[in-house]
Order: sequence, then structure tokens, then C-alpha cells
Amino acid sequence: MQGSIAIRDVYKGYGTFTAIDHVSLDVNPGEFLTLLGPSGSGKTTLLNVLAGFIRPDAGSIKVDGVEFLTCPPHKRDIGMVFQNYALFPHMTVAENVAYPLRLRKVSGAERARRVKATLEMVQMDHLGERGIHQLSGGQRQRVALARAMVFEPKIMLMDEPLSALDKNLREHMQLELKRLHARLGMTTIYVTHDQKEALTLSHRIAVLNKGKLAQLDTPDALYERPSNRFVAGFIGESCFFAVEEGADAVTFQGRALKLPKGTALKVSQPRVLMVRPERLQWQVPSDTSAMNRIDAIARDVVYQGDSYHVGLVLSDGSELTARHQKGFREVPVPTPGSAVELWLHAEDTLLVAEGA
Ligand code: ADP
Ligand code: MG
Repeated sequence: MQGSIAIRDVYKGYGTFTAIDHVSLDVNPGEFLTLLGPSGSGKTTLLNVLAGFIRPDAGSIKVDGVEFLTCPPHKRDIGMVFQNYALFPHMTVAENVAYPLRLRKVSGAERARRVKATLEMVQMDHLGERGIHQLSGGQRQRVALARAMVFEPKIMLMDEPLSALDKNLREHMQLELKRLHARLGMTTIYVTHDQKEALTLSHRIAVLNKGKLAQLDTPDALYERPSNRFVAGFIGESCFFAVEEGADAVTFQGRALKLPKGTALKVSQPRVLMVRPERLQWQVPSDTSAMNRIDAIARDVVYQGDSYHVGLVLSDGSELTARHQKGFREVPVPTPGSAVELWLHAEDTLLVAEGA
């Protein structure tokens, strides 16, 4: 299959400001890869470099082994979808979708056939004659998608395409996109600042922070094994605690931590203990050999329907969040001010690099 992308050491600065800071990453043919990061982390800039709208100061991008940066934008075989649709307002739905085929001089009959097939794919074939202003936001986004897909590009670039839609429609479109991609299989680079959307859609996620690649991994690995505090804080919920690093043990609250198998000791980089609220256990384990104990005082308990959100404070003043599942009747919900002991499995006791 075609559509492999090799991004090497791409750098883009604006004056003294660095927008893309020596990013290298490989995208596999047919892969759905998401660039995830907070606003200003360089996602759109990197996508525009791929599209050919921005020239990087340094680096190389190869598509199927051929240098892409010297190829003019209109000759790059890519479809693009943006947040603000960018449809032609004076054209009908069908005319919008036909446009890329006209540019490529596809003949009338073949063009009509492909427009129809693509509109069917996004369930818009009954609205081909409508004007763009007669469509809802979700329908417009489908037209934009159809227009980007109609010439069957080997690469699809999407920049926050669903962010203007309301929550229900956005979640619906996420599932549609996922199905569509599974069916068509074009290499897709998708940009979002929404971690949940990234986890839902992607084969792999590249987390960007201040123009740097913070981690590139599968959704599962990013969540279970974030390599630094930035990634751990950006994906899912986490609390972080200072630990004492010794020659042969890492100590927390005066006890040596039991750590996941393979955790390195004596690393030069400063690390913190990371705790996911949902991994904390309230029941004293019958076997504590692979469990770490955390002592805390409950501060506030908030009812949230399926669980209680419990805010706790440790003896050094640091804060911890936990969830107390309802139906966990053996262990009563703590009252504010009471001392509690929580338990964390060694495999969930992660040390992550303090910096990004
Ligand atoms: P994101 O899409 O992740 O929100 P962008 O790629 O749009 O981020 O921008 C990354 C950073 O580069 C931002 O801080 C932005 O202000 C800066 N930037 C983008 N374009 C320009 C430009 N033309 N001139 C100066 N700074 C820019
Ligand atoms: Mg952006």
C-alpha cells in the first residue's frame, strides 16, 4: 500500500520563536495518526508544512520515499479538511465535490459517477442539488470530507474538522470518520486538541508540546505508559508527587515503592510519581506484596452519580484525587477530615520524567 510519510528533523521558526522544533516521525501507509497538543503547540503549522502552504527552515518530508518539500502544493496527492469547511458558497453540494475532479480534468460522465459514489459514502447523495447555505454544520462538514476524498488521495490531512460541531454530532462524526477510514484506508494525519477525540480515532498519537514531539505511541501506550509529565497530564487525569530517588530504591512517604517490572533506577533525569485516580483502591488488599500504600486525609467528598469524587491531602500538603465507586459497599465512603489509606498496584505506580 502507498502513502508512507517520513518526517525528518523539520524545523520552522518565526523570528526568534520556534513553532516546530526538530520534529521527526514516520507515518505508516493507511495509518490514522493524530497530532495532539494544546493550542499553539505547532499542530497546524506542521500540517501546513505537509500540505505545502508553509516552507520549513530545515528538514525533509518523504512520501513513499520521494521528497515532498520541493513538490508544489497542487501536485501533492493530498486531500484536506479544515475546521471552517472552506466550501464554495456559490456552488451546490455536488458542484463542490466535483471541483477537485474538474481541476484534474476528469471527464463529465466519470466525474458524475465519482461525485455520486462519494456523496453516498458520506450519506449526502440525496442533497446534491442543495446550496451550501441550506446545510447544517454536520452536513457541511460531510461535504468538505467528500470533496477531500473524491479524487482518492493517498494522504488525507484534517485540521480540527469537527471542533465547530456540538458534542453529540461531533461524537457521531468521529465514529463515521473511523468507519470511513477503515473502509478506504488512506493515510490520515488528523489534528485535534481534544484528547478523547484522539484516543477514539487514532492508531497512533503524536503529542506535541511547544513545537516538540513529546511522545509518539498508540492510545493505549500513551495512557498506560506516558513517558513524561506533560503527556501524563494532557491525556487522562493524573496527580503527581515528589519521590526520593536512592541508589537502590525510590521512596515515597517513607516506604520503598514497588514499581512496574523493568523500571530503571538511578536515572539522571528528575522523576515524579504519577497516580491515575481510577487506579487507586480503597480496600486493604489481602496480599500487599505487589501493592503500594498511600496515606492521606479526605478533604472533600463530592457525589457524582456513578461515583464519589474524593479530594485528599497528603502529609506534605500535596493533593490527590480519587474516585470511590458506588456499589463498593465493603468500604464506606470517607467523611471529610478522616484518615484513609489507599492502595496502588506496582504496575500502576509509574515514575515519569519531570520535564517534557
Ligand atoms: P496549533 O495549531 O497547535 O494551535 P499553530 O501551529 O497554529 O498551533 O501555531 C504554533 C505557534 O506558532 C503559535 O504560538 C503561533 O502563534 C505561532 N505562529 C503560527 N503562525 C505564525 C506566523 N505566521 N507568525 C508568527 N508566529 C506564528
Ligand atoms: Mg491549529
